[in-house]
Amino acid sequence: MQIRDNLGSLIERIEIERLKYSSHHIIKLVAVSKYVGTEQILTAYNAGQRAYGENKVQDLKEKSQILQNLPLEWHFIGHLQENKINQLLGLKPFLFQALDSLKLASALQKRLESNRQTLDCLLEVNSSLESTKGGFALESALQSYKDISDSCPNIKLKGIMTIATNSSDTKIIDSCFRKTRDIFDRLRSVYESVEILSMGMSGDYKIAIANGANMVRIGSEVFK
Ligand SMILES: *Cc1c(COP(=O)(O)O)cnc(C)c1O
Repeated sequence: MQIRDNLGSLIERIEIERLKYSSHHIIKLVAVSKYVGTEQILTAYNAGQRAYGENKVQDLKEKSQILQNLPLEWHFIGHLQENKINQLLGLKPFLFQALDSLKLASALQKRLESNRQTLDCLLEVNSSLESTKGGFALESALQSYKDISDSCPNIKLKGIMTIATNSSDTKIIDSCFRKTRDIFDRLRSVYESVEILSMGMSGDYKIAIANGANMVRIGSEVFK
């Protein structure tokens, strides 16, 4: 019952923020299931939740295989090591949200090409200016988006993803999301395929939605 209640209350809170932003805006909730097993995912599924995010290929593999008969949408949201590319592609995820380097893009492209496969991806941008965080620097994101679009035909870029600074200062978080939104708008004016702005987690989704996020990735608030 807890998960069902968590989801219900979260969706209500997302809806309030959505309406503050724009009643014409649509937001997809990706429930980040990395903390839980398939039983909890099944509970969330029965409460109506369809999209799930995992950040380890092995976990995605196990959970998606156990739940393969359900019409779930699996998002891979973690850093992808090159030696896990084959495994991830075999699972045919709905969206890979953390394409974070040109080197990874080129390794992915090679593998996709030989598999005659395509993969929907988001470019991860590092909006927090923390060198420990992954993703493309804000200054190079536009150019990298172009480079990947031009040279990796099997990678279908759909937009961008960011993780804000882990801070209690809402002004700093707001600035991460605002900068990411700015890149999203600039990309969208060039590429028709740019649709998804994935930002916002349990602690900061309200600030993300105020900055135009149309996909939020929320774990602890769903599975607490
Ligand atoms: C874990 C994780 C989330 C969800 O974090 P919560 O704070 O539990 O909502 C979102 N995005 C990424 C990339 C994650 O790794």
